[in-house]
Parts: sequence; C-alpha cells; structure tokens
Amino acid sequence: MLNPGTHVNDYPNSYYHASLQDQAGFKHAVGTIRTQVCVIGGGFSGVSTALELRERGVDVVLLEAYRIGWGASGRNGGQLIRGIGHGVEQFRNRIGDAGVEMLDHMGFEAVDIVKQRIKKYQINCDLKMGYCDLATRQRDLKAFETDQAWLKTKHYPYETRLLDKKDIHEVVGSDAYVGGLIDMGSGHLHPLNLVVSEARIAEQLGAKIFERSEVKSMQRGAICVVKTDHAQIHCEQLVICGNAYIGELDSTLNSQVLPAGSYVIASEPLSDELAQQVLPSDMAVCDQRIDLDYYRLSADKRLLFGGLCTYSGRDPKSIIKALRPNMDKVFPYLKHLNIDYQWGGMIGIGANRFPQIGRLQDNIFYAQAYSGHGVAATHLAGKVIAEAITKETNRIEVYEQVKHLRFPGGPRFRSPLLAAGMLYHRFLDMF
Ligand SMILES: Cc1cc2nc3c(=O)[nH]c(=O)nc-3n(C[C@H](O)[C@H](O)[C@H](O)COP(=O)(O)OP(=O)(O)OC[C@H]3O[C@@H](n4cnc5c(N)ncnc54)[C@H](O)[C@@H]3O)c2cc1C
Repeated sequence: MLNPGTHVNDYPNSYYHASLQDQAGFKHAVGTIRTQVCVIGGGFSGVSTALELRERGVDVVLLEAYRIGWGASGRNGGQLIRGIGHGVEQFRNRIGDAGVEMLDHMGFEAVDIVKQRIKKYQINCDLKMGYCDLATRQRDLKAFETDQAWLKTKHYPYETRLLDKKDIHEVVGSDAYVGGLIDMGSGHLHPLNLVVSEARIAEQLGAKIFERSEVKSMQRGAICVVKTDHAQIHCEQLVICGNAYIGELDSTLNSQVLPAGSYVIASEPLSDELAQQVLPSDMAVCDQRIDLDYYRLSADKRLLFGGLCTYSGRDPKSIIKALRPNMDKVFPYLKHLNIDYQWGGMIGIGANRFPQIGRLQDNIFYAQAYSGHGVAATHLAGKVIAEAITKETNRIEVYEQVKHLRFPGGPRFRSPLLAAGMLYHRFLDMF
C-alpha cells in the first residue's frame, strides 16, 4: 500500500478524529463470506457505493484496510463543492452535447445527494451551506463572471453573487483578495463524521462493513475472490475504491492515478469576535492558484486552513512550519493563534483531472482520481456505480467514454514527473 505514513492502524491525529462522534469502530473480516458485491476501500467512494447498494436491496461487503475514512475522505478540507472534474468542455468531441449536459447536471446532483442523505438519515456532520471562490488576480474575476453566466443558463437554483474588492470583506477578513464568487449551493461539513455515519447507516441497512481488513489479492472471474489476511470474499461484482492509496493491488488503476499530498492545520477555537472578523459569513473559501489555499471555520470556530501540494510521496517534516506562513500571509493578525492539530492526506490526480469511474471488466467497477475535488463527486460515483450494478441506469457509460492516460514509469518515477509538471504550471501561475 502506498505511503500509509505513520498512522497505519488508526486515524491521524486530526481535529476530525478528535471530534469524531461514533468511536465504536467496525469489526475486521474473518472466514469465508459470499456476497453479491464486494467493495474495496472505506472512503466516501466505497462507503457511498455500499450504502446506495443496500438502499436498493443488494448484498454488499466492504473491506477497508485501516479505518473507515482513514484516507482522504476523513482528512479533507470538508468543502462540499458543486461540479464533476475540471473542464468538462474539453470532452465534448468525445461525449457529445448530451454527455456534457449530463455531466453538468451530475455536478449539481452530487451536492444534492450529500444534502439529501444528511437530511434523510439526520446525520450530524456540521453541514453549513455557503461557499466562496476567491480571486487573487483580475483574471480570476473574469472566470467567475463566465461561471456565473453559465450557471444562469443552467437555471442553477441557488444564489450566486459576484463580489469586488470592496465587498469581499463580507466573506473574508483579509486584504489578499480582489473579489470572489459566492455560491449558496455549495458549503462545508465535517467529513469524518459524515463518512463514518454513512458506513454505520449502511451497516444498519444490512451491509457488512469491515475495518483493518486490507485486501492483499484479487482473483478475477465470473465469481471474484478477494483475500485479506483472515478472510476470503466470493462475490459476483467487485468495486475498487482505493484511490490514491490503491498501491500495487491493481496495476492499471495505480498507473492512472498520481498521489499528491495536501495538508491542513487547525487553530485553537477563535473568540466569537475574531471568528466574525475572519470569516463573517461562515463560508468555506478557496482561491484559484495552482498552490491554492482553502479554509473554513469548524463548528467550534477553529480556523481549518488547508493547502500545500507535495508530489514526493513524503509528508513535510513539520506541516505547521510548512503551512503556517501561508495562513499568516492571509491573516497577519492571527499570528498569535496556537495551532492545535496538523495532518495531511493523499489526493488522487488523473492526467486530465476528470474522475475515473468505470469498469475493468463486466463485473469489476472502480472509482478514483477526483483531483482534490471529491467530497461531492464521490457520492455521485457511488450512485452511478450502484445504478450500473442494479441495471437501473447506464449513466456510467458517459464516464467510460473519457479516456485516461497511464502515467509512464513505475510508482518511483511518477511523482517526480508530476512534480516537474506542476513546477511548470506554478511558474505559469506566477505570471
Ligand atoms: C488534505 C486533503 C484536503 C482535501 N480537501 C477537499 C475538499 O475540501 N473538498 C473536496 O471536494 N475534496 C477534497 N479533497 C479530496 C477528497 O477528500 C477526495 O477526493 C475523496 O475523499 C476521495 O475519496 P475516496 O473514497 O475515493 O478515497 P479515500 O478517501 O482516499 O479512500 C480510499 C480508501 O481505500 C482504502 N484502501 C486502499 N487500498 C486498499 C486495500 N488494498 N484494501 C482495503 N482498503 C484499501 C484506503 O485505506 C482508504 O481508506 C481533499 C483531499 C485531501 C487529502
């Protein structure tokens, strides 16, 4: 398994883990189990697939190597943002007008799935609607205008509002920005509480959810056999959701996804007055640079500040030392604040930055590579895969029409390759 870091058997010491409500955990898999579907990976993609399948009455077993939400799903910035992939337009030739239309719609549906699930099962995960894209350059504002005009043509039902330099303080107490675009259809939440709750609900609906059950091998066939150290699962369909942590389990999937580290620091709780100054509208925010900053307030008013992007497969020695200067640059008046938690995780990046959802063969499905934009998109992936398994829809085909490059070189050469590519883009970004 790729870069499990120092937190092999348990969650990293994050704010999310410290505020996880359901600490009961799940059993590990033992013995021989027969099921219709086996899902590998207990992040949003895997858990959402399992839950969608159980809602449709399908027998399902889920195997997670460490803990539910141990990967990116339990460590991310918690920003629930509309959209599937970056630049769907580039695929118009391949997927046609109807395909682009379908993906545009699914980009909105992805957020709705999360919102409706939270409501339906009364999940307590601090969901708060309101998100703002931040502009550090005039050209970002132009892109926001285009985005807002496009949303109007799609009859987007939520409020969007362009902000200029004088208005931006409504959203963020910093002079670092020249404007923004508010989107009340996106928002933020506590991702670990969401994913663990979803797994618990899937279990209550009859799914068998196992933690500390790393899949060591997969035997393909009409009946697939999946083995962990203590169990073997015989299944008619397999769904692989290991994302950036897939490692050597499948060489095709592994070669299509590049792991990149992203990091978050959580401050001590801010006073009400300071929280009001920093993010007065309590929105999640994100700028548009390659090396972007993304941040928001937690329910207990900590500033969760995310950023950095590493391609070496190694975490910085001190995340605080590496990330704090970025936070101080945006909020010089917060230099006195203590940082209580620091953590990071692996984002799965694809060459075209479009989620990879499809089939390796008729009965083996996969979902991965959301390129840092997966809190909502993973939920859509789970639904699309469940629909394909139950033959309810064939929406999965629109994803399968998009081709994904395999990165050349083995895992050892891929990260330097990405690092070189990203350096080039950072250079362009500076101008
Ligand atoms: C620091 C950070 C910040 C981010 N911020 C945001 C954000 O604010 N908004 C947003 O939309 N997206 C964000 N993302 C991206 C988002 O978190 C991911 O796109 C999403 O969580 C991917 O979910 P997943 O289930 O596909 O993968 P993961 O959550 O990574 O789950 C994969 C799981 O598979 C398991 N696994 C792998 N191999 C095996 C095996 N052999 N056997 C059993 N289990 C296995 C792993 O242990 C892991 O738990 C961020 C990511 C990071 C790392």
